[in-house]
Amino acid sequence: MNTIEYENLFLLNEPFMERYQESFTDSLNKGWFVLGNKVTTFEQEFAAYCGNSYCAGLASGLDALVLALRYFEFPEGSEVIVPSNTYIATILAIYHNGLVPVLVEPDLNTYNIDPLKIEEKISSLTRAIMVVHLYGKSCDMDPILGIAEKNNLKVIEDCAQSHGATYKGKKTGTFGNFGAFSFYPTKNLGALGDGGALLSADAEAIVQIKALRNYGCHEKYYNKYIGINSRLDEIQAGFLSVKLTSLDAINSHKKKLAQIYQEGLKSDFILPVQHPDYDDVYHIYSIRHPERDKLRTHLLKNNIKTEIHYPVPPHRQEALKNRLKGAYPISEAIHQTTLSLPVSYFHTAEQVKQVVAVMNAF
Ligand SMILES: *Cc1c(COP(=O)(O)O)cnc(C)c1O
Repeated sequence: MNTIEYENLFLLNEPFMERYQESFTDSLNKGWFVLGNKVTTFEQEFAAYCGNSYCAGLASGLDALVLALRYFEFPEGSEVIVPSNTYIATILAIYHNGLVPVLVEPDLNTYNIDPLKIEEKISSLTRAIMVVHLYGKSCDMDPILGIAEKNNLKVIEDCAQSHGATYKGKKTGTFGNFGAFSFYPTKNLGALGDGGALLSADAEAIVQIKALRNYGCHEKYYNKYIGINSRLDEIQAGFLSVKLTSLDAINSHKKKLAQIYQEGLKSDFILPVQHPDYDDVYHIYSIRHPERDKLRTHLLKNNIKTEIHYPVPPHRQEALKNRLKGAYPISEAIHQTTLSLPVSYFHTAEQVKQVVAVMNAF
């Protein structure tokens, strides 16, 4: 049996190569490599796709989170509510602003922040809630927005895994003050290198973010803010415009593969929950099983590669363990049992059926 890889960035990008080449050649011919038409065009296209008004292209998803927080100029030591179960970048963005992350446990069914546990963590220092739409499923935004409004908190959405996912018909990245995106190559909308963006309905905010990404200047050599260099690369923006035209097709394909798992996997495995209010885009298709490591070995013996998102929760990471106090048993239970199955754009239904057969023989 041929190996079924977890991800393969060559195969994932193969369908777009000709159009990438054209876009690249066009950039070479024009000789415009930083903040040109391709960045502006992609920003408009991506904002329109998501259904939000304004977009600023940035150098990475982490920078998008960092700059969203920086924009508000919260006093040092202010607290930001964030899920305990996330990729570490979300929490690093808070530290990079001199702010304090306050971790809230996820709902064990959805793996996303549990809205019922947010209010008990709000203090007089809390200024924002940073939600993460993990694995491509939106958070339960209605109660979260209600809590934010009641407590006068800003809402930032980490949409690095949720390009195109919707909640009650509305796309992620349009609920909060900012939607932060990553275009890291493995994401549902991935570039051929690093990239990121912030979306907002607030025109002024995006104007300021565009200054912050460019040393704090709107006008060359006149600096209004203490900015950084975090510009979306012009050539990557061209590639992203190409891929954006197929984002719905990519998401549909991943949803179709996820459905094969949902219908085929035996009941020993805890499958992702589905609900009519949520249209999930399966950046990651994660199941849980108490003998996750044995299961992973069994799959590998059968030439099927998997991943773990993530093996170590943020509060157990060496970089953070002295800063993040407290116990996060739900987060740990997820980290100990979760396994991510192949669900890339290049995988075929046949391959996923093979994975299902090998899984069910465990
Ligand atoms: C990928 C990811 C990020 C970081 O994005 P980069 O572009 O790699 O900086 C942040 N948050 C989450 C949830 C992610 O999955």
